[in-house]
Amino acid sequence: MARQPIEPPSARRENDGAPGALDAPTAPGALTAPGAATEAVEQLLEEVNEETLPALEPGGDGLRGAGVVITGGATGIGRAAAIAFARQGARIAFNYLDEADLREAAQRAAAELRMLEVDVYCRACDVRDGADAEAFVGEARERFGSLSVLVNNAGIGRDRALWRMRDEDWRDVLDTNLTGAFHMIRAIAPTFRRQQHGKIVNVSSVHGIRAEFGISNYAASKAGLIGLTRSAALELGPSNINVNAVAPGYIRTTRLTEGVPAEIMDRARERSALGRLGDPQDVASVVVFLCSEAARHVTGAIVPVDGGYLL
Ligand code: NDP
Repeated sequence: MARQPIEPPSARRENDGAPGALDAPTAPGALTAPGAATEAVEQLLEEVNEETLPALEPGGDGLRGAGVVITGGATGIGRAAAIAFARQGARIAFNYLDEADLREAAQRAAAELRMLEVDVYCRACDVRDGADAEAFVGEARERFGSLSVLVNNAGIGRDRALWRMRDEDWRDVLDTNLTGAFHMIRAIAPTFRRQQHGKIVNVSSVHGIRAEFGISNYAASKAGLIGLTRSAALELGPSNINVNAVAPGYIRTTRLTEGVPAEIMDRARERSALGRLGDPQDVASVVVFLCSEAARHVTGAIVPVDGGYLL
C-alpha cells in the first residue's frame, strides 16, 4: 500500500486521531475495505509518534555554542574547517604539532577564530600519543562544558616507492593518520555516549580508495580510516553518534600538497570531472554539513570531495 504523506503534528486537525477523522481516501491504492480505516489511523498515529523532526535552529544547523574538536587545525583543511564551524557559532578546540613554524600558524589561526567572537582553545598535542590525545579532549570538555563534534584531520605524507620505504616512513604515517584518529575517537566516545549525541568526521582521501604510485603508507592509512569510520559508525550508532568520512581529492594551497610536483597536480585536475582542484573550504563545508542536524540520518558514509576525480 502506498503511504500517504503525514502532516507534522502541529498541523494536525483537532479531532485528528479519531477513526472518523481520516478523510475519505481518493488516491490510487486507497482504502476501501471495512476496518481498514481504523488500521490505517493506528498506523498513522504510530508513525507520527515515531517521527521526530531534526532540531534545526532558525538560521543555524544546531552548531551554535557546540564544542568542536579538530586535530591539526592550524593549517590547510583543518584551519578551514575551524573557521567554517566558528562561522556557525561553534566553540573550537584544535591541536597541532609542537614545531616552531606550526606554533606561529596556530597563533594566527586562533586569532582569526577569535575575530569571529567564538571561544577558542588550542595547544600542541601529538595525536600519536594516546595519553596526550585523551588529555586534550578532557581539557576541551572542561573548557566548553560539553563537546558535540570531533574532526580527525591531522595527517601527514612520507612518499616513497614501496621497496624503498623505511620503517619510520611507514610507522609515522600510520601512527598519525590512522592510530591518531583511533586515539581521539576512543578519548571522546565516553562523553558522546553519555550524552547520547555526537558527530565524528574523519578526513580520509581519494587515495584510501584509488591507488597511486609512491604512497602505499598513506593509502593504507586512509583506507584504514575508512574501515575505522564504518566500524565506529556501527558501534556508536546506537548511542545516536554519527561517524562519517570525507575523501578529498587533490586540494590546493595546503602544506601537504605544496611539495607535490606540478605535473601530478595537472594530471589530477585533468582527471577530475569538474576540471579543477579543490580548495580547503570545499572540504570544510562538507565536514560542517556532515556535523549538522540536516545530516542526522547519514552515518558510515565516505563522501568524496574530489570534483569527480574518482569517477
Ligand atoms: P596540512 O599539512 O596543512 O594539515 C595537516 C595538519 O595536521 C598540519 O597542521 C600538521 O602539522 C598536523 N599534524 C600532523 N601530525 C600531527 C600530529 N601527530 N598531531 C597533531 N597534529 C598533527 O595538510 P592538509 O590540510 O592538506 O591535510 C589535512 C588532512 O587532509 C590530512 O589528513 C590529509 O591527509 C587530508 N587530505 C589532504 C589532501 C590534500 O590534497 N591536501 C587530499 C586528501 C586528504 P605539520 O604540518 O607540522 O605536520
